Amino acid sequence: MATPTYEIYALKYAGPLIRPASMVTWFQDMDKTTEINYYIFAIRGGDETIIVDCGCAPKLASERNLNGYVNPAEVLRRINIDAKKVRHVVATHIHFDHISGVELFPRATIYVQEKEFLFWIKNPIAKRAPFMHTTDPVGNRYLAKLEGTKRLKLIRGDKKILPGIELLLAPGHTIGLQVVAVNTARGTAIVGSDAAHLFSSFRTDIPSAIITDMISWMKSYDKIKAKASSPALLFPGHDLALLENYPKVAEDVSRLV
Ligand SMILES: [Zn+2]
Repeated sequence: MATPTYEIYALKYAGPLIRPASMVTWFQDMDKTTEINYYIFAIRGGDETIIVDCGCAPKLASERNLNGYVNPAEVLRRINIDAKKVRHVVATHIHFDHISGVELFPRATIYVQEKEFLFWIKNPIAKRAPFMHTTDPVGNRYLAKLEGTKRLKLIRGDKKILPGIELLLAPGHTIGLQVVAVNTARGTAIVGSDAAHLFSSFRTDIPSAIITDMISWMKSYDKIKAKASSPALLFPGHDLALLENYPKVAEDVSRLV
């Protein structure tokens, strides 16, 4: 059977959020600010729907006062996806804006790199200040409870999870971040999540300032770029252009490919 081709959608669930430019692009424009959005992504093709990242749960979003927040499940409904029925959720990494909404997908199998899971859920270093600021204890407890059940798949390295859908270990931003390589009508596309906050990171090699391992990060760029069929098919995690430069299919939802 031929490998299915998929379409990829970016769904904004919060933003615009003002950030120091030097946080989004490492040590650049120290005196400036910039804007980012928070997204989840939907991959659809054949009979499958795969959601990439969980977004932020409503409670944490109000604690963190996220501008323009809409429950990610609401945004999914705009393209006729019922979060409660989703079967596959890829958690790219365990930062709050990507994992906190895990409870919104009660029937999904969650795919997360084993390294990432072990660090955030089991390693006491993850409780230290620089890490605690970027994660969500509530979401992490939910994830921890799934250990040993069919709903949690701990991935070791690169792995095809469905025909035309491959997870790639791409550490740097976090210890076990993964991106998703997707077979599309235009070739292999990469849902890069925070491997790059912005499109420009892929061009300039300047990632965000939220770094666990810069050397690994540079190797991850080489790996991701080699896998994508063209540079135009590398998609970052937080760029406003994900919404602005692609066809709009619903409010705050664009089709990337
Ligand atoms: Zn993020």
